[in-house]
Amino acid sequence: MKTETIAAIATGMSNSGIGIVRISGDQAFEIIDRIYRNKQGKPGNLKAAKSHTVHYGYIYDGDEMIDEVLTLIMRGPNSYTAEDTVEIDCHGGVRMVQRILETVLHNGARTAEPGEFTRRAFLNGRLDLAQAEAVAELIHASNDYALKSSVNQLSGSVSRKIRALREAILYETAFIESALDDPEHISLDGYGERLLKVLEPVIEQVEQLIASSDDGRVMTEGVRTVILGKPNAGKSSLMNVLLGEERAIVTDIAGTTRDTLEEQIKLQGISLNVVDTAGIRDTEDVVERIGVDRAVKAAEDADLIIYVADGSRPLDDSDYEIMGLIRDKKAIVLLNKTDLKLTVDKEALEAQCGHCVIPISAKEERGIEALESKIKSMFYHGNIAFNDQVYITSARHKEALEAALKSLNMVRTSVLDGMPEDFYSIDLADAYEQLGLILGEAVDDDVVNEIFSKFCMGK
Ligand code: GDP
Repeated sequence: MKTETIAAIATGMSNSGIGIVRISGDQAFEIIDRIYRNKQGKPGNLKAAKSHTVHYGYIYDGDEMIDEVLTLIMRGPNSYTAEDTVEIDCHGGVRMVQRILETVLHNGARTAEPGEFTRRAFLNGRLDLAQAEAVAELIHASNDYALKSSVNQLSGSVSRKIRALREAILYETAFIESALDDPEHISLDGYGERLLKVLEPVIEQVEQLIASSDDGRVMTEGVRTVILGKPNAGKSSLMNVLLGEERAIVTDIAGTTRDTLEEQIKLQGISLNVVDTAGIRDTEDVVERIGVDRAVKAAEDADLIIYVADGSRPLDDSDYEIMGLIRDKKAIVLLNKTDLKLTVDKEALEAQCGHCVIPISAKEERGIEALESKIKSMFYHGNIAFNDQVYITSARHKEALEAALKSLNMVRTSVLDGMPEDFYSIDLADAYEQLGLILGEAVDDDVVNEIFSKFCMGK
């Protein structure tokens, strides 16, 4: 089947050393041959060139020479899209790259939609859907953990795990079906017991994957953090210390969905998204400024609450109110101003708030390392072990896993209740299908469109 040939700028839209225009599809080589000339100024005949070779020459628009380029030839299926692909490395001025793209488009390609190259890779079976999603995550990764997790997912860590689970399920479904078809030769006596033995570890692994999604979200999006403390406790000073040299490149992200302001702090590869810094900057009590209800809400939504207690002043009602808010939450309590004479006792505070207390001095920048390692250990349990641990970072995957878990639990109940085998065969098949959605099997077009629409141009 003929496919339309698509083209796009694959590099960023700013002036830079090199820009890349990518062409993919059946006509890729014809198109490049219309516009490429070799260093002698003669037609290059790249159509005949070997796959994975680089050619030095020029791009021409008619008789006009546009730029000196390197051209890469990749024959399908050995390319990103699994189609014939050409990459033109040109000079990276924005106008130059656009000009090259325009020339390619005038000569028979059409502009690729966002994510269309990766979509083709998916449709051509080069990547499954989880891997294709990892490509988008990789491009948007804002910290080292997110980067590592998306690289792993792209290399198939999630897909392999899901496939192994599906295989186990499929084997059982097939066994039941065959036994029901051929009861004379295949006996289902005592099968329930055997199935449970297979099912338990499958259920456990699905549960583990679901549980990993909390870490996964934190990894890709950052730790949603709220800093609470009465006025003058040192919240703003703490922010400044944490921002450190990053301060200059920090941007305020006006929350579009939430009515809040976020500031991002990078700590040893983890991102903290500090919510409602407006309150902190105004040296106002967050609880006071946004009202108790919203503070409660912010605290509920937060992955982490940092409560800054002023150690130089006695605890008051504000402090007790905050302690009430954070009692059952993931929270870190900082006893600040330890450079001054303390009126608040660390152990007493610990007993009162039910969290461990880290003494710091925001002013003298003491105790900050202890805070950082505490955050790290709270979210990554000391360390992210990428080798054997797979992290679920996509809400879509989590949803599918939850649906699969539901079906698997139903199978378990049916077995324990002594229901007939065809009962659980249906639920097993359902779990199999749900897990398949992660890989992109039988996924609705809408879902696929939604996924690829989030890609940037040229990917
Ligand atoms: P916020 O209202 O909670 O944001 O508090 P600020 O960070 O604005 O700090 C209030 C005051 O306490 C400022 O004068 C800071 O310089 C001071 N401060 C903050 N942290 C410390 C500390 O660790 N030691 C001392 N001595 N003063 C501090």
